[in-house]
Amino acid sequence: MVAAGEIKLRVVEEYARTNLSIDLGAFKETAFDESAGIVSVTPAVTCGELNAYLSGYDRFVSTSDCPTVGLGGFLLQGGVGMGFSGWGYAAEQIASIDVVTADGELVRADAQSNSNLLTSALPVGLHSSIARVFYFSASGR
Ligand SMILES: Cc1cc2nc3c(=O)[nH]c(=O)nc-3n(C[C@H](O)[C@H](O)[C@H](O)COP(=O)(O)OP(=O)(O)OC[C@H]3O[C@@H](n4cnc5c(N)ncnc54)[C@H](O)[C@@H]3O)c2cc1C
Repeated sequence: MVAAGEIKLRVVEEYARTNLSIDLGAFKETAFDESAGIVSVTPAVTCGELNAYLSGYDRFVSTSDCPTVGLGGFLLQGGVGMGFSGWGYAAEQIASIDVVTADGELVRADAQSNSNLLTSALPVGLHSSIARVFYFSASGR
């Protein structure tokens, strides 16, 4: 199993003895491409951390209003954010995902390449693959 955020401890404890567990909790990287308006974020970054980072660019993403929710699980289950009535599911803003497949291959999944990984990941999760980096649009404030 893969875990990254707030809920991981309970789940990791439950499964660690008998399953392969991958804890991404320390993998926190965020970057913003101002010219493209695309933010890239690793799964363990929380909703609060992402929007605190983007506020420096006068941008935001419609995330949970609970700041400790991890973006990995939030995005992979669709993501009902603060602006849901206007922007829809947070996952709809995802342009691409870097994914480590079960074979250990790192691939970019977007509308052009490996699109099956992108469409199958959202909003039901990646199953045997791991999302390494999410790329999505950040709106103006
Ligand atoms: C206090 C609280 C408030 C919440 N508020 C909201 C809200 O407003 N809107 C909303 O939509 N949801 C909300 N949630 C639900 C939240 O989005 C989910 O619990 C989400 O799974 C949390 O993300 P996580 O990274 O902590 O997930 P985890 O518990 O780490 O993982 C959840 C699932 O996703 C898989 N997963 C995690 N990271 C990866 C990865 N990188 N690659 C592949 N699979 C992965 C795990 O294997 C697991 O199956 C809330 C939850 C809590 C506890």
